[in-house]
Amino acid sequence: MKKAIEWSVRSMKEAGFDSVWTEPVTVPYWTRGNEWARCTSPLEFDLHLSGMGLSDGTGPDGIEAEILAVRTFDELEARADEAEGKIVLFNQPWEGYGKTVRYRVGGASAAARHGAVAVLIRSVTGRSLGAPHTGMMRYDDDTPRIPIAALTVEDAGRLYRLAQRGLKPVVKLYMEATNHGETTSYNVIGDIRGREHPEEIVLLSGHLDSWDVGTCAQDDGAGVALSLGAAQLILQQDLHPRRTVRVVHFTCEEMGGFGGRAYLEAHRFELDQHILALESDSGSFAPLGFTVDADSLMIEHLSRLAMPLGRVAPGEWKIHKGGSGVDVGPIVRAGVPGVGHRVDTTHYFDVHHSLADTFEKIDPDILARNVAVIAGLAFSVADDPVSLRSISSEIADSTVDGGH
Ligand SMILES: [Zn+2]
Repeated sequence: MKKAIEWSVRSMKEAGFDSVWTEPVTVPYWTRGNEWARCTSPLEFDLHLSGMGLSDGTGPDGIEAEILAVRTFDELEARADEAEGKIVLFNQPWEGYGKTVRYRVGGASAAARHGAVAVLIRSVTGRSLGAPHTGMMRYDDDTPRIPIAALTVEDAGRLYRLAQRGLKPVVKLYMEATNHGETTSYNVIGDIRGREHPEEIVLLSGHLDSWDVGTCAQDDGAGVALSLGAAQLILQQDLHPRRTVRVVHFTCEEMGGFGGRAYLEAHRFELDQHILALESDSGSFAPLGFTVDADSLMIEHLSRLAMPLGRVAPGEWKIHKGGSGVDVGPIVRAGVPGVGHRVDTTHYFDVHHSLADTFEKIDPDILARNVAVIAGLAFSVADDPVSLRSISSEIADSTVDGGH
C-alpha cells in the first residue's frame, strides 16, 4: 500500500500536474497470515478458502467442528437451535452483489448469535472457476467475534450436498488473521489548475487499495489508471480547461470507505466549489455511459455534454440517474453532484476480490475507450461556460420568481 501511494504521487508529478499532495487517513490495520481448511469427515479433502478482511483468526489450534449447512439467513433462524458449537456454512444463492454480499458482511455475527464457532460462506460471485473471493466483514457489538472465510462456490456446494445427504461433514479451519488496531494511510491528490476558476473542482477518482489476493487489476487498478489517464490526456492535449481537474486516489475503500470519509472531513469548507465528483470502481469493461446522483436538471445538462462521447462506446450508451461510488459517496451525500462510471459488469464479479483479478483481464483497447469517455466528460464539465452547480439553483430561483 505504501508503494502504491508512492507510485501514485510520482505518476501524477511525472504527468505534469500543477500540485500533488497526500492527506492522512486513519485506517484499520489487519493481516491475513496463513489460512487453510480441510474436510476431515466423512471424506478427507482440502477446501479452498479466503478469510474475510477484518475477521479474527481461529487461534493456533484452529477450530474443528461439524457443519450446519444452510442457504439463507431465514433458514439459519429456522434451525437456530442446531447452531451451538457448529461451523455454519452459508451456501447462499447468487442474487447479484448488493444482496449476496450481506452474507459476507453479516454472516459471522448472525451465526455467533446462536452459538456457532465459525462461519464459511459460498464466495460472493455469480460464476466460479475454483477461486475463493475475499472482502470485508463486520462484527456486531453484542455477539462473540468468530472467524469467517469464503469457500469457492465448488467447495461450498460439495460440503452442502454432503450435509443434505445426512453425512454430517466435519471441517478443520485454521486462520492466523489478526486485527492490529489502527494505522495511518494516505489519500493522494493531484490538481491540474483551472485557467479561469482554479477554485472550482472537477474531481476524478478511483481507489488505490486492493485486496491481498490477486493484484486487483479490475478492482480498482482500473479506476486508478482511468482517473489518472483521463487527466493525463487533458494535459497532453494542452486543453487548459476553465476549472481545476482534480484526481483523487483514495485509500482504504475496501475496509469500509475510510479514504472517502477523510476527504469529506478535510474538504468540508470547499464542498461548494466541487462541481462534480466522478468515481470509477466497476473495472474497465465496455463503457456504457454514466450514472448521475444529482438534481434532474443537472442530469439533463450532463446528458447533453456526455451523449457525443458514446461514439467511442462499442454498444449501448446511456446517462441516467443512479449512484456514484463508495469513495465519493460522503461528499455526494453532502451535496456534490456525483457521477458513476458505468461499464458492462457482466464479468466483473467473476474476478472481483479473487486471485483471478490480474492484469491480463484488462483489455488495452477498452481501457483506452474508458480513458477517452472520462477525459471527455471531465473536460466538458471543467470547461463548460455554465457551472453545473449553478443549474438547479438558477432554475429554482426562477421558479420562485415565477420564471421567465
Ligand atoms: Zn473497488
